[in-house]
Amino acid sequence: MEAEKKQIRYDVAIIGAGPAGLGAAIYAARGGLKTVIFEKGFVGGQIVLTAEVENYPGFEEPVSGYHIVEKIKKQVQRFNAEIKMEEVSAISPEGLCKIIETDENTYRAKTVIYCAGAYPRKLAVPGEQKFTGRGVSYCATCDGALYKGRIVAVVGGGDSAVEEAIFLTTFAKKVYLIHRRDDLRAVHAIQDKALKNNKIEIIWNSVVQEIEGDNAIRNLILYNKKTEQNSSLAVDGLFVYIGIIPNNYLVESRIDLDENGFVLTDDNRQTNIPGFYAAGDIIKKVLRQVVTAVSDGATAAFSAEKWIRDHSDQFPE
Ligand code: NAP
Repeated sequence: MEAEKKQIRYDVAIIGAGPAGLGAAIYAARGGLKTVIFEKGFVGGQIVLTAEVENYPGFEEPVSGYHIVEKIKKQVQRFNAEIKMEEVSAISPEGLCKIIETDENTYRAKTVIYCAGAYPRKLAVPGEQKFTGRGVSYCATCDGALYKGRIVAVVGGGDSAVEEAIFLTTFAKKVYLIHRRDDLRAVHAIQDKALKNNKIEIIWNSVVQEIEGDNAIRNLILYNKKTEQNSSLAVDGLFVYIGIIPNNYLVESRIDLDENGFVLTDDNRQTNIPGFYAAGDIIKKVLRQVVTAVSDGATAAFSAEKWIRDHSDQFPE
């Protein structure tokens, strides 16, 4: 229904309602800019799936990602930024007016802040697809409680894998952490906790080759890269935390990306296209945290506000 699509103008259109998008919305809307956030899934992004966050300032005790997001969302609403649950299907980032298309409407905005985040990388081994939702999970917060008193494995050696392995010990009687090297990537504070937890056993230098079972997972076939031997590990569930892939498909042909597909921005969070900013997990950076995501969002909104001011005499009515 092309003809029925309405044209609506905003100062700032934010793509993605994770911490970066919400942080950007607070700064943009509080700065008096007409602000809209588009979200295709659920408000909050990946952090909603994290059971315990203990390094976000302002909370003395660990809190859930969901709790943090609920608080940020209320702040966004207080400044009257609109949240539209519409999936963006195309963006034209060039020129003074950016065009954002969703299935419902075509929107125009003076600036765009792209905060589309990232999604979990898959193992890509036999059995993964078959057992997804029946033993293979990418979210310990969602599915961990199903494994009370049972045996699970986590794959990965980064912050996510090690943190979630610790979280899973709340339910499981045994948690194997399978890592492809002999050195964890996770920060030392998190590693120390895992190494001291007697429910966690680390299986070093190993990769999952196959996931076997019937109605549910029964075994993992592991390959030890040092000994070059295969072995079988009996588990009831497998949690995969082997990194993230940027959601860049709306912009990949237009915006400069690094070799892994993360968006390149300058210190103002501007991309190679004037008036088009990016923030949060989607950008190339060294530290992916809620605190850096909201900070990126704030910087992008601040930069967008300045860009609009600098070009105010050029925008059509
Ligand atoms: P990550 O830091 O990229 O770690 C991915 C891990 O998976 C690495 O240990 C990697 O091994 C392993 N891996 C990658 N591909 C694999 C494969 N095909 N098979 C087996 N193992 C594989 O990803 P992440 O842990 O999801 O974290 C993503 C970002 O979020 C990071 O910047 C992280 O710091 C941040 N984060 C922070 C916190 C926190 O501070 N509380 C919590 C969660 C996430 P190698 O080590 O050999 O490369």
